Amino acid sequence: MEKIIDEKKQGNSLVMEAKSENSRKLFIESYGCQMNFSDSEIVASILSKEGFNTTQNLEEADLVLVNTCSIREKAEQTVRKRLEKYNAVKRINPGMKVGVLGCMAERLKSKFLEEEKIVDLVVGPDAYKDLPNLINEVEEGRNAVNVILSKEETYGDISPVRLQSNGVSAFVSITRGCDNMCTFCVVPFTRGRERSRDPQSIVEEVNDLAAKGYKEITLLGQNVDSYLWYGGGLKKDFKNASEIQKATATNFAGLLKFVAEAQPKMRIRFSTSNPQDMTLDVIEVMANYRNICNYIHLPVQSGSDRILKKMNRLHTREEYFTLIDNIRKLIPDCGISHDIITGFPTETEEDHQDTLSLMEYVKYDFGFMFAYSERPGTMAERKFEDDVPEEIKKRRLTEIVNLQQEHSRHNTQKFIGKTVEVLIEKESKKSDAHWSGRNSQNTVVVFPKENYQVGDFVNVKINDCTSATLIGEAVGYSKNN
Ligand code: SF4
Repeated sequence: MEKIIDEKKQGNSLVMEAKSENSRKLFIESYGCQMNFSDSEIVASILSKEGFNTTQNLEEADLVLVNTCSIREKAEQTVRKRLEKYNAVKRINPGMKVGVLGCMAERLKSKFLEEEKIVDLVVGPDAYKDLPNLINEVEEGRNAVNVILSKEETYGDISPVRLQSNGVSAFVSITRGCDNMCTFCVVPFTRGRERSRDPQSIVEEVNDLAAKGYKEITLLGQNVDSYLWYGGGLKKDFKNASEIQKATATNFAGLLKFVAEAQPKMRIRFSTSNPQDMTLDVIEVMANYRNICNYIHLPVQSGSDRILKKMNRLHTREEYFTLIDNIRKLIPDCGISHDIITGFPTETEEDHQDTLSLMEYVKYDFGFMFAYSERPGTMAERKFEDDVPEEIKKRRLTEIVNLQQEHSRHNTQKFIGKTVEVLIEKESKKSDAHWSGRNSQNTVVVFPKENYQVGDFVNVKINDCTSATLIGEAVGYSKNN
């Protein structure tokens, strides 16, 4: 009978699942998007059945795995620096094996072994179930590579081992891959074709998390709006196979409803949405279920129709405004964030002004803003010259960041004097006498600890703010607690 060991520390409690009979040590770290962090929990689960427990101590590791990101050049440089670090540790721990996972592994494939001698193992995002075989090969003295992409694999049958979790919020992946071919993006090449996971296995994972005391889940996908399952809803709804056949497909709105009804007390978030695929029924379901948070991450990338076309983003600025208007009509206090790329090939000052004026129209709560970074193998790299000078990219990025700062403060100030429901996640970074959590709009809220605990839903009266954080004091437990 396996024994689960919980390692709890005061204040910031970190849950790390471990099996007492496992003797091998796995050190795994992740970079990039939430999908990678969620995948690392799948990997930890697969290897926990092979005798590995996770360790936070690199020097005692038998196996070191780094889950890599390839979205920008800088992300890849970060990984190469980590490999240098492993090299230094390998001098005092020569038996240690090193593997690279994720998008950079998929992009470089076996070339990674030539470029980085420390690497023994290269595994793409769809080949994690092959890890036990690949590790055997490495232990027999050979390098091992599996970067085959799959049209089916969703790891829906793997129960993730929660890594460094606060025991309160967790990611639940619902789709893998992406079929949109945005010209700047490597994801379709490094994560393959889009596939959706069986809603039954998603609801089972959410029920399991609820049973373990988790209070919030984030449904994850590169593009959650294109979630589509043809299996026909939850099996319990149907008396026999033919009824299942007659059933309609489950789209993202349908899945959200299933999950919201399965666990009415569980807070539900999702990421990432796509303006060209988002449908009104998703917004309606959000408006109808109190436990679905009023927050949408809605990347726009550019405010210029000409640049959106060159990016192969299949919507116009007007269509984006209509979507924002619909969101604001059905969920007036919805928090909205974005991704924006500045300096895309051929971007003019006029295009840049279009992006600034779009931001002015939406007044986002916050965003992720980057200068264009040409990625090998993407459509943009093949078709367009990276012709916007670095200093212009930098200046435009500064203008976008400054405008966002203004809008963020404009939005946080609206909460002053109001009371918001907060789920306590951890200790505030700035003070161990304060808790930190988020409201439904995904804005960070900080307040004095008093007798509240991590995992409590608390009503907090806001009396001050910065552009990113609301500051207040607790006025009692929320009825959702
Ligand atoms: S929607 Fe576009 S940007 Fe997002 S993962 Fe897919 S291809 Fe990349």
